[in-house]
Amino acid sequence: SVGHRRQRRMRLLEKLKDAIQSRQIDVALQPKCDLSSGRHTGFEALVRWRPGGVAVPPPELISIAEEAGLICELSEIIITRALSAMAGFKHAGLEPGTMAFNIVAAQLQQPDFVERFITLLDVHGLAPCEIEIEVTENVILDRSAGNFASILRKSREAGFSIALDDFGTGYASLVHLKQFPMDFLKIDRSFIAGILTAKDDAIIVRTIISLAHNLGLRVIAEGVETTDQVKLLSNLGCDLVQGFLLARPMSEQQAHKYLKTIHKTGSYLRHQMQDCLKYR
Ligand code: C2E
Ligand code: MG
Ligand code: MG
Repeated sequence: SVGHRRQRRMRLLEKLKDAIQSRQIDVALQPKCDLSSGRHTGFEALVRWRPGGVAVPPPELISIAEEAGLICELSEIIITRALSAMAGFKHAGLEPGTMAFNIVAAQLQQPDFVERFITLLDVHGLAPCEIEIEVTENVILDRSAGNFASILRKSREAGFSIALDDFGTGYASLVHLKQFPMDFLKIDRSFIAGILTAKDDAIIVRTIISLAHNLGLRVIAEGVETTDQVKLLSNLGCDLVQGFLLARPMSEQQAHKYLKTIHKTGSYLRHQMQDCLKYR
C-alpha cells in the first residue's frame, strides 16, 4: 500500500543518511565491448547498497536520494569509488578503458558540475576523456532542459563523452537528439530482449541504429544476454554491447580479475565473434 511504501522509504532514508556519513556505499562495474573488434572498451558504474545485508534496488535508492536532496553527495561517493578502482587497475598495468556514470537532473543543475568532477579526476590522476556521462530521456525532457544542454555541452568541451541511456522508452525525439550534444545512444534493454522474437523490436533497433549513425552517434545495446542477439546486432551495425552474456556487474576485485584475463586471452566476445566469422 501507499502507506507501507512511504514507511519503507522513510526507514531507508534514515539508514541512507548514516550510510552516506560512513561512506558505506558500493559500486558494481559492468563491462562493455566493441562488436567489430571484440575488444573491451570500458565499464559502467552501478550503485550497490545493502543495509543489513538486504540489497535495495538502485532505482528506488536513487529516487529516495533525489527526493531527500542527497543525490549529489551519494553520487560523489559512487564516483570516488569507481575512480579509485580505475586508478588501481591502471596502476597494476591493466587497461580499464572508460568509466560511465549515470547522472540525474539534480547533478546537472549544479553550475560547477564539470569543475567538481574534474577535481575528483585530478585526485586519481585521471582525465575527462576517460569518463562517460549517461543521462536518460527524462533528463533532457525536464523543464530546465536548456540549462542541462549547456552543462552537457560544457562537459563535452572538457573532454567527457555523453550517452543517452534507455533510449526508446521515453518521449525524446529527433529534435532532442539534435539539440543535445551527444556521443552514444544506448538502446533500452526491452528492445534487445525482443529482437529475435518480436518483429517490431528488430525493426525498431535497426531504425535506431541507422538514425544514430546518420547523426554521427555510436550505438550501445544494453541487456544483451545471448550469442544470437550478438550476431543479429552485429549484422545490424551496432557498435557496442553490454549485458549478462559478456559479464554481470561485478565487484572491483572481480573486475580486476576480468581485466587480467582479457589482457592475457582476449575478451569472451572476441572468441564468440571469431566463431561467428568462422562459420559465416
Ligand atoms: P541502467 O543505467 O540502464 O543500468 C542497466 C541496468 O540493467 C543495471 O541494473 C544492470 O545490472 C542491468 N543489466 C545489465 N545487463 C543486463 C542483462 O543482460 N539483463 C538484465 N536483465 N539486466 C541487465 P541496476 O544496477 O539494478 O540499475 C538499474 C538502474 O538504476 C540503472 O539503469 C540506472 O538508471 C539506475 N542506477 C544504477 N546505478 C546508478 C547510479 O550510480 N546513479 C544513478 N543516478 N542511477 C543509477
Ligand atoms: Mg546506465
Ligand atoms: Mg539503461
